[in-house]
Amino acid sequence: MSSFAQKLVKWHQNYGRRGLPWQGVRDPYKVWLSEIMLQQTQVATVIDRYQLFLSKFPTVNALAQAPLDDVMALWAGLGYYTRARNLHACAKIIASEFNGKFPEEPETLNKLPGIGKSTARAIAAFCFNHSASILDANVQRLIARVYGIEGSLKTSSENKKLWDLADQLVPKEAALMPIYTQALMDFGATVCKPTAPICQNQVVNNCVYSADCIAFKNGLVMQIPLKIKKSPSKIVVSEMLLILSQDEILLEKRPSSGIWGGLWTLPETPWVEVKSENEVSNTSFQLEQFQPVVTFTNQSIYDEAKILAPLKHVFTHRTLYFSTKVVRVQKNMVKCNQSCDWVKKSDLGHLGLPTPIKKLLADFQVLKRVD
Ligand code: SF4
Repeated sequence: MSSFAQKLVKWHQNYGRRGLPWQGVRDPYKVWLSEIMLQQTQVATVIDRYQLFLSKFPTVNALAQAPLDDVMALWAGLGYYTRARNLHACAKIIASEFNGKFPEEPETLNKLPGIGKSTARAIAAFCFNHSASILDANVQRLIARVYGIEGSLKTSSENKKLWDLADQLVPKEAALMPIYTQALMDFGATVCKPTAPICQNQVVNNCVYSADCIAFKNGLVMQIPLKIKKSPSKIVVSEMLLILSQDEILLEKRPSSGIWGGLWTLPETPWVEVKSENEVSNTSFQLEQFQPVVTFTNQSIYDEAKILAPLKHVFTHRTLYFSTKVVRVQKNMVKCNQSCDWVKKSDLGHLGLPTPIKKLLADFQVLKRVD
């Protein structure tokens, strides 16, 4: 076994994370689910949702048979909704083409919707002792620091270097692959962290790699991996209609691709980029903007409706400000196209709704408050 792997496995025996519900699991369905959820969502958020998902969809076949709307509803709030759509699509393929059994080879797993190379290898290592390394962001950072890779990890040459190194480091004993893979994840998440790696701590500095780590020895820990300057987040604005009729609300289902794809939201205008936050209150609420999705037979009800102050929602690469007009109507005063539907307030909990829309509805006590 490489000395890198030896140190890591030993470290994990003493200091690895304990008690996470997906640790020590060998069932590929559960491993796959946790890996997909953890891709862009914090561990603390994933724990409850992972358990909820498993209680509702205990097997890959149960997930495959569920309506996509149920899956989206359970995913709502985790963000990056393409993951939920891919999860459902992948479950259907496993159920129909693989008889409900996950393939063991990473190359085959990697061809399924939403399963990237590193995730495929994680499933293969955890469940089938497959000897191939993962290379998520935590592992990239660890290997880049220990081996002093100073270039951008986004370039194909540095990326290839990382994959080659990662594969050379795996233990020869296949039976060690689950613990080694878990140790890689834990070490990157708790020791060789992006902003406060343990070797930079003045009080506790006991990294198992400090004698070998090139970045540490050369004082380059905080320079590796090379940070690419991010372009500033865009500001986009939209206007939305909260149309209420007694105990029902008019919602629009978004197309399956794109942001909030497949979720239910309020009828809205296209998101438009503005130069600064000073412009977010410049609303027009021209009725034509909502047509042909929604039209009103009684224009004065629309004109006199109250407009709420803009709300803000921050995405990774953009910030959305949306203003909302609250229109209370009789249902026969509204015509809408087939993308819209009247939904009873009591049924909202069963639909996939974007988090800011949930919050807005909660403020109107249409839905139970969400955090
Ligand atoms: S010495 Fe520092 S940079 Fe190197 S592996 Fe340890 S924590 Fe990471």
